[in-house]
Amino acid sequence: MARKVSWRSVRRHRNYTVDEASRALGICKATVRRWIKTGLPALTEQKPALILGEALIAFLKARIPAKQTCRLEECFCLACRTPRRPAFDEVEVRLQQGGGGMITGLCSECSATMNKRVSADGLERIRRVLTVGAMQADGHISKSHPPCSNAHNPEEPETHA
Ligand SMILES: [Zn+2]
Repeated sequence: MARKVSWRSVRRHRNYTVDEASRALGICKATVRRWIKTGLPALTEQKPALILGEALIAFLKARIPAKQTCRLEECFCLACRTPRRPAFDEVEVRLQQGGGGMITGLCSECSATMNKRVSADGLERIRRVLTVGAMQADGHISKSHPPCSNAHNPEEPETHA
């Protein structure tokens, strides 16, 4: 079972650096930084930036319902402990009897392998949003790479300016 990020380990009246918050929650620092970018209040004018425990708790509480449910195109990353969109928007599916299957993708954040069991119906819908390659029963990937890929480079270029 997926463990959820528990805000219960956060103390309301403490301030946390990104490092401390990530350790308190057992998640990667990149996730905490992303939260700050996406709305987690933090004192970012100072170094290191400080997150108020109270703000962190409120942020996590607000996120829990949405966070724990993978959207159609997301898989739960056990390393990040959060749903992630697969890297390159690509997954492979190992079809199972009955039409459903197990899809496998790589976490777009940490490249860990993510798996998700999907119904036949879910698989059809996933095919509309992600590139789904077929994986044969022996695990060999039969997908041939598309000759023409206009997709932008999914790896964000790091700028060290
Ligand atoms: Zn991950």
